[in-house]
Amino acid sequence: MRLLRSTDLALRVLMRLAVADGGSTPTTREVAADMHVPYTHTAKVVAELQHMGLVAARRGRGGGLALTEEGRAASVGRIVRAFEGEGDVVDCEGTGPTGCPLSSGCRLRGALRRAQEAFFASLDPLTVADMVAGPTGSLLLDISRTPPV
Ligand code: SF4
Repeated sequence: MRLLRSTDLALRVLMRLAVADGGSTPTTREVAADMHVPYTHTAKVVAELQHMGLVAARRGRGGGLALTEEGRAASVGRIVRAFEGEGDVVDCEGTGPTGCPLSSGCRLRGALRRAQEAFFASLDPLTVADMVAGPTGSLLLDISRTPPV
């Protein structure tokens, strides 16, 4: 199963903010540069994370993005579900003019749904804070301290 680009980006943004140095509040542009992703895509993801209550934005001079307490404790499974949506992993209705001929009674479809849920459920016990423990956190700190070229 391959995640949408926006799902991976949402997790990258949250991890980057989870190690914000000394309470610093990086801007969306700085986070995009640190994570090597386009600003416009990052801005859309940040807006969704704000809507979910996981990221707060402070405006004005010295403003920027900060992870909320809810964001720090958020389950990776919840975030992945929210960005991936609840759709099937296979587009059974979209193959050919009338969809797949097996779609009205396909056992594979049910098995894939269960596999998808098992995938999400395996990420439920992990939090954003867990994701930045150990070497990942050190790496993120190094990245965030490196001045842009
Ligand atoms: S075989 Fe089953 S899972 Fe695959 S497209 Fe057809 S209905 Fe969907």
